[in-house]
Amino acid sequence: MDTDEDTIDLRSDTVTTPSEAMREAARDAEVGDDVYRDDPTVNELERRAAEAVGTEAALYVPSGTMANQIAVHVHTEPGQELILERESHIYRWELAGAAKLSGTQTRTLDAGERCVPTPEAVREGLVDEDLHRPGTGLLALENTHNYRGGTAIPVDRISAAAEVARDAGVPVHLDGARVFNAAVALGVDASEIVDPVDSVTFCLSKGLGAPVGSILAGDEAFVEAARRVRKLFGGGMRQAGMIAAPGLLALENVDRLADDHANAERLAAGLDALDGVRAPEPDTNIVVAHTEDAGIAAADLVTACKDAGVGCVEFDDYATRFTTHLDVDGDDVDAAIDRIGDVVAELA
Ligand SMILES: *Cc1c(COP(=O)(O)O)cnc(C)c1O
Repeated sequence: MDTDEDTIDLRSDTVTTPSEAMREAARDAEVGDDVYRDDPTVNELERRAAEAVGTEAALYVPSGTMANQIAVHVHTEPGQELILERESHIYRWELAGAAKLSGTQTRTLDAGERCVPTPEAVREGLVDEDLHRPGTGLLALENTHNYRGGTAIPVDRISAAAEVARDAGVPVHLDGARVFNAAVALGVDASEIVDPVDSVTFCLSKGLGAPVGSILAGDEAFVEAARRVRKLFGGGMRQAGMIAAPGLLALENVDRLADDHANAERLAAGLDALDGVRAPEPDTNIVVAHTEDAGIAAADLVTACKDAGVGCVEFDDYATRFTTHLDVDGDDVDAAIDRIGDVVAELA
């Protein structure tokens, strides 16, 4: 993607660049060697992050993918099964890391359009260890659900799925890359969403606007084990306060996620009004436009939008994702709708 100033980049909420305040915070950060736990800025970020999701402890890691993969590694033994919904990020977009890094076998659960497995689906997915079967090591859930269009999954559905696993002695990890988007959309505190699970990942570098970093949180024992696995995976960092300082400011960007959601709703309404385009009202900041009726392949739409100055990504053959974030406002959304409208009229 070119960096044309005029481009409205809706590819992802990861494209935001750090604010002046974040750049200053990075420059002025108090630092130390974080592998020795000597970096006061990282320590502060971990304390505040744990507080934000209501866990005992938290660990700062370079990416959401690493956070999830560390969680899989800590919770499971090689050969055990990891169960998760079939469109989960951990299953689809993490390069089979659970198999390669932790030796788990994945069993996918069908959750239909509802994104989170029902208690029955979880029960069916659990296998007991015996002479022939490996046993289930972990249930992983996702909220908001990325591939299902940023769906905010209500707390009771998360609890219901988690309870079945935990009753069977199987821990539960939540891939909450955008858990604060879920919290804002549902009008609950993030800690309520996290309460039914054993560990959670969230990204500082998405809607919250930090340049780098994610958090893996859970109880003290889990985070202590996770710290060793982070080192094993090459994620032990030294004067990381330089990148953790903007992360502290990112934690203050939770409430403003509501603006991104309003912009996404406006974008979806604008796109849905185009001939041959279906864009369901989003729960959060991810809009998925379906163009099968217009006979426009997502790949073609993405290329033409790029030429017209709108960044978006292909999600499926006829599904394209547009994501709002803190670097786009209502005017940008209106301009994007106009540009996409021209593109659709031309391609249809
Ligand atoms: C982005 C994302 C991740 C991975 O985060 P990275 O920081 O890009 O590695 C994991 N899960 C979900 C649901 C995501 O959207």
